Amino acid sequence: MNGEGIEEKKWFGTLLSYAKGSGGRLWASVVFSMISLISGLVPYYLVYRMLDLYIAGELDKAFVIKYSLAALLAYLIKVVCFGISTGISHYVAFNVLEGLRLKVADVFLKAPLGEVYAHSIGEIKSVIIDKIEDIEPPLAHVVPEGAGHILLPIVCFIALAIVDIRVALASLLALPLGLVFMMLTFKLSGKNMAKYQEANASMSSMIVEYVEGIEVIKAFGKTGVSYEKFAGSICNYRDFVIEWLKSTWITMKLAFAFMPATLLGVVPVSILLVNKGSMTVSEMALSVMLAMSMVISMAKIEVFSNGLRQMQYTVLEVKKFLDIPSLVEPETERLPSEFTIEMSDVHFTYDEEQGEVLHGIDLTMPEGSFTALVGPSGGGKSTVAKLIARFWDVTGGSIKIGGIDIRDMKVESLANVVSFVTQDNFLFARSIKENIRLGNPNASDEEVMRAAKAACCDDFIRKLPQGYDTSAGEAGKRLSGGERQRIAIARMMLKDAPIVILDEATAFTDPENETRLQESIANLTKGKTLLVIAHRLSTIKNADRIVVLNDGRIEDAGTQEELMARSPLYNRMWQAHIGARNWAAGNKKEA
Ligand code: ADP
Ligand code: MG
Repeated sequence: MNGEGIEEKKWFGTLLSYAKGSGGRLWASVVFSMISLISGLVPYYLVYRMLDLYIAGELDKAFVIKYSLAALLAYLIKVVCFGISTGISHYVAFNVLEGLRLKVADVFLKAPLGEVYAHSIGEIKSVIIDKIEDIEPPLAHVVPEGAGHILLPIVCFIALAIVDIRVALASLLALPLGLVFMMLTFKLSGKNMAKYQEANASMSSMIVEYVEGIEVIKAFGKTGVSYEKFAGSICNYRDFVIEWLKSTWITMKLAFAFMPATLLGVVPVSILLVNKGSMTVSEMALSVMLAMSMVISMAKIEVFSNGLRQMQYTVLEVKKFLDIPSLVEPETERLPSEFTIEMSDVHFTYDEEQGEVLHGIDLTMPEGSFTALVGPSGGGKSTVAKLIARFWDVTGGSIKIGGIDIRDMKVESLANVVSFVTQDNFLFARSIKENIRLGNPNASDEEVMRAAKAACCDDFIRKLPQGYDTSAGEAGKRLSGGERQRIAIARMMLKDAPIVILDEATAFTDPENETRLQESIANLTKGKTLLVIAHRLSTIKNADRIVVLNDGRIEDAGTQEELMARSPLYNRMWQAHIGARNWAAGNKKEA
């Protein structure tokens, strides 16, 4: 219809490839569906035979019983085969959904983080949950039943042709007109289908944003931009759907009216033939019955072809995610035996428009050393940390661990040697205990609690309704930012990786806990390569080396004393830090 022909063929194959080898069963369900529909025709033939015998005056009781039983049997076959067909096709369809969802999850895991962040949570959720779910009903019903309903009119037509070729041709009288209107409908709705999906996706991502930002929206009132965007996307969707329906309404109704109008030709022509004596009354009855079952199937084809298109657009939507490039992993990896981190001339650009963010970073963090990264906000500190964890690949230069380029390691192996605690730490909707245990799935309960104690979590965890068994989802609202961070630190401690990166990991912790936390971090990271990004300079003054990062460049590096002696930027940062501390302390005294 429009240049999508090839793609249309491919998408379906792609879809079935996710059925994990059960794709062949779909064809079995098609066969059962066809048997089912064709057995549905058998009773018509039997009625015709009985009518024939009745007119000839030869219909006796035995015949009636025999034929009725045969009709009943045919009906049973129809029902049973239909059941088998849908049973199989649902099995296949749910396998396809599972395969697709796992694949998308896998793509996200292997993709550079930037590719994942490029999509809103609303969009991702809408694709993985809703869109993929949308594939199930059409896949399970359209394929087997659709195929059957395409076959049935053909079988009916052949049967009609056997009865009388003139009647058969008459059944197609209104078909061309119907087809023209149907094509027209497709053309009109096809153009808008993509727009419909877009409006729908925009609406669902707006809804997620709205709910996630509800606190801010409440604080600033409905006048906020977010509310307008939210309401706007809903109105937009409504307007669009109404427009779309209007645009296809007339042609669709006409297509529906003409397409299946087989009786329009069959009835007058067969009456004519009966009058002329070239057709029996029972043949006429059979023709009418066949023509009527053609109608039913043709009407179904309309519905199913819409389902097929819906499925195609959904698949193409999902395909956008499947096509996200993954980080390149080596065939055979090399593993570091030593954990010095070495960044050489690292350049990095998030996106071309924004421009380069890191302009040639040379930084060596010897094994077992404590390096601190400080500098103004937006200077690139978090970017450096994320590049070491390979959330993205560098755009220039290299990052090596123990002399091995991190791109020569498998993503999973790198994750095993690097512990990364960030500002916003995610807790999964399972128990607090399990959340900590993510750091090391083999850890015993005692080890989990020991890590929690070391991370200053034990006290507040025990105060939760079910202690360590409280679900983080339930506790989520009650935990403060600092408490979440400490759970993430406990997780990190349990993981016991040779490289530890803390990106403002204690930023939300109150001063009392912070000193304790600092001590236990220092104890537990002894001998590890430690990189700490901190705003509160007092927490990193013992670092072996403090690196000042400003505007994507290393401005200076040295110990606390060295930097105090020579770096104006570092001095200014200290002044600001001390000032803030005094201010906080002053507030406390007043309170
Ligand atoms: P810091 O941690 O020192 O505050 P970041 O490394 O977070 O600095 O940011 C450095 C620069 O990169 C900033 O200009 C910031 O806007 C930009 N940046 C950070 N994260 C992203 C991202 N995911 N996409 C695009 N730009 C980003
Ligand atoms: Mg940062």
